[in-house]
Amino acid sequence: MRALDIGICGAGPAGLAAALLLHRAGHRVIVFERFEAAKPVGSGLILQPTGLAVLDALGLLPSMLALGSRIERLHGADAASGRTVLDVRYASGRNGRFGLAVHRAALFGMLHRAVLDAGIAVEAGRDVAALDESGERQRLVLADGTRPGPFDLVVDASGSRSKLKQHVERPTEPRALAYGAFWASLSWRGDGFDPRALSQRYRHASVMIGVMPIGRVEAGGAEQAAFFWSLKPDEAAAVQAQGLEAWKDRVRSLWPATEAYLGQIGSFEQLTLARYGHHTLRRPAGRRLAVIGDAAHSTSPQLGQGANMALLDAAALAHALGSVQDLSDALARYCAARRLHVRLFQALSLAFTPFYQSDSRLVPFLRDTLVSSVARVPPAPAMLAALVSGMVADPLRRIGLVEPDWAARDMPGAGTSCEPPASP
Ligand SMILES: Cc1cc2nc3c(=O)[nH]c(=O)nc-3n(C[C@H](O)[C@H](O)[C@H](O)COP(=O)(O)OP(=O)(O)OC[C@H]3O[C@@H](n4cnc5c(N)ncnc54)[C@H](O)[C@@H]3O)c2cc1C
Repeated sequence: MRALDIGICGAGPAGLAAALLLHRAGHRVIVFERFEAAKPVGSGLILQPTGLAVLDALGLLPSMLALGSRIERLHGADAASGRTVLDVRYASGRNGRFGLAVHRAALFGMLHRAVLDAGIAVEAGRDVAALDESGERQRLVLADGTRPGPFDLVVDASGSRSKLKQHVERPTEPRALAYGAFWASLSWRGDGFDPRALSQRYRHASVMIGVMPIGRVEAGGAEQAAFFWSLKPDEAAAVQAQGLEAWKDRVRSLWPATEAYLGQIGSFEQLTLARYGHHTLRRPAGRRLAVIGDAAHSTSPQLGQGANMALLDAAALAHALGSVQDLSDALARYCAARRLHVRLFQALSLAFTPFYQSDSRLVPFLRDTLVSSVARVPPAPAMLAALVSGMVADPLRRIGLVEPDWAARDMPGAGTSCEPPASP
């Protein structure tokens, strides 16, 4: 396809990865970001083999591996009995796969630097309010009234609260999920915690506490951990009104080892309240418009796929634009390449969420008894590993990527066995 003028709305993982890939394909790209200084929001996330494969294609994998923390296992235990009810090991799957837990700022910083180094324009402090579709080509309408463009293609990567997604056929808005979480980035304290695992404790499905090493924000920086406590956003004010010590007592009573982290929290201001919403666009494209990342599909972070799906979308769009001459055909290809994978993981995230974040007593009972037993019987461990890796439904082949043979590559920490799980 000839070189296009492309306006990208949003400098999150989706927008920045798309900017790099489309610039490398020869298109003229400008990124518009509403924050004055482009910045990441939140604490940590797990890059799965899917997202890592996209970073590998961008040549950014070594830098990310140097900052992140290799994750071999997702482990969860009942807070009262200490019984393991979730134990997913990447090693049960294929290809030497693993997860990489990173601080959002590390992922953002690496992509942002690569975008600036490539000479791509990032206009910060530019709040995109709407799309002007009156001409043959698209213009963005900014909150300050300016109308940059015209663009052959607008890429909406502005996250779940996107204002541009209303321009696709049958747009949907995220439906608020009952549970959210307090998140904090703290200093990593190894004592009693597996340095290669996301460790969780549950009480029914209404309490979920998690600790995960997320590596460093910058080379030479201190090692950090993501800490989270699930709760209903509506109840956050009541928890805060009862005071920090009351909340810490509750966490401590369920998982005494978290003292190492609770001791680092001096006020509720260190905790960010995350709210989750669920939506999936049926067709994430319109006239000269592609919608990618959370703008196209958002969900609870239960399966830890969101940022990875955002990276896959960006790669899928670039691949589609490079495969055909006509823009509408390319947008159709982009939608087709991502349809099955997105729908499958959105459905699975929705199905799994009540097992970990709901008021139900029956569902977590089934989780702790029936499901945890079945999950140990082959081929369930391999299937769960493939699911968590994001590799079900062959997402890479559809977008022209080949999964690296992780085992054959010199990956930091490869072959290191997991330490035993922390006692509750
Ligand atoms: C608490 C939590 C934990 C998570 N854990 C994981 C995990 O373990 N693994 C995982 O893969 N995913 C996880 N996710 C999901 C993941 O963070 C998102 O899926 C991912 O950030 C989506 O990337 P994005 O670029 O599409 O959107 P975003 O990261 O939301 O970026 C959107 C960007 O657009 C900008 N923007 C918004 N509106 C405008 C506007 N009007 N004009 C201009 N710019 C605008 C925003 O400022 C932002 O920079 C988690 C999410 C949360 C909330």
